[in-house]
Amino acid sequence: MNIHEYQAKDILSSYGVGIQHGILANSPEEAVEAAKKLQEETGTGWWVVKAQVHAGGRGKGGGIKLAKSLDEVRSLSDQIIGMNLVTKQTGEQGKDVHMVLICEDVYYPGENKPEEYYMSVLLDRASGRNIIMYSPEGGMDIEEVAESSPEKIFKEEIDPSVGLQGFQARRIAFNLGLSGQAFKQMVKFTDALYKAYEGSDASMFEINPVLKTSDDKILAVDAKVNLDDNALFRHPDLAAMRDTREEDPTEVEAGKFHLNYVKLDGNVGCMVNGAGLAMATMDIIKLSGGEPANFLDVGGTADAARVEQAFRIILKDDNVKAILVNIFGGIVRCDRVAQGIVDAYKNMGSIQVPIIVRLQGTNAEEAKKIIDESGLKVFSAILLEEAAQKVSEVLA
Ligand code: GDP
Ligand code: MN
Repeated sequence: MNIHEYQAKDILSSYGVGIQHGILANSPEEAVEAAKKLQEETGTGWWVVKAQVHAGGRGKGGGIKLAKSLDEVRSLSDQIIGMNLVTKQTGEQGKDVHMVLICEDVYYPGENKPEEYYMSVLLDRASGRNIIMYSPEGGMDIEEVAESSPEKIFKEEIDPSVGLQGFQARRIAFNLGLSGQAFKQMVKFTDALYKAYEGSDASMFEINPVLKTSDDKILAVDAKVNLDDNALFRHPDLAAMRDTREEDPTEVEAGKFHLNYVKLDGNVGCMVNGAGLAMATMDIIKLSGGEPANFLDVGGTADAARVEQAFRIILKDDNVKAILVNIFGGIVRCDRVAQGIVDAYKNMGSIQVPIIVRLQGTNAEEAKKIIDESGLKVFSAILLEEAAQKVSEVLA
């Protein structure tokens, strides 16, 4: 699950990570109030208006603006709230901005120039360990840095049995070229950031930029956090941060029925039980000349109600030209699923696209009979090759 910058900063702050302070606003009026409050609390005279959407690259897309007066806070917020923000990460359809984070300006002039770094904590699946990835080249696209100067990206691998060690945090601060007060602050920052990552069962915390202010404070100016969905049950406070406005509406609806659905761009919808079988089925669809329109795992209990919901969700996608149902009857009996499909089909009335059903496992023969005798426009198959062949035929 992804969360907003303001929520990520709340988490960071609760673990003692230094942050650029901000107050959330849903309207230009709230934005002005937020700016005044920040001025009282931090003494700032300039503010940054930051669009809150689940996507990076907001600055370049026009979703982050510096305001040098309360009037500018109002007009910039008015401009950003309600805008459709297109960034490198949103796709061309963009994202609607519903709220802004009004932040203190932390790039104020002083003894030293502010410096931007990059730091992220994430799970490295190759080594099976958490790593801290960091670079003295922050603020910009880290992919670009990786491309043009990979030697400027450093990694620190964390041993899970002992956690982040002091010498590692010091090595990070050293490699970032810090000394004195800033060095000490960076060690503290890194340590607290790692604790925030571990404590919230995240799969990624990306801070870009980490800022060294002109008076040597180390602050998270931005924060992109990805939480592990499978651990959210342990964190009701984090689970409550979900903003379904940022998610695909069909995926949100599928979630309500505990269907594991991911929308794709193809023309053949698929309904499968088990993630592995779903992946294999998507391959079969490709081999038979189609493109999967979705990934959909109906899970272990494919009863009539869930099968019907799954059909409804697949059919919300206008690109779907055929549906392949591929169920393995292990715990669930095939005849039950077949009855579920027939009932769902009758309940839904007007399914226009051909449905190919392949049921294998317990009571597969009975299942085929139920489908064949139903009189509905449903093709049944027992062998996967047969099912694939039928998909090819209906697409032709
Ligand atoms: P992103 O574009 O979505 O990654 O959003 P960021 O939060 O990283 O902000 C983008 C850029 O806005 C940063 O890299 C900074 O250059 C700039 N920015 C953010 N906060 C401030 C600030 O307090 N003062 C000034 N002058 N610039 C800021
Ligand atoms: Mn950023």
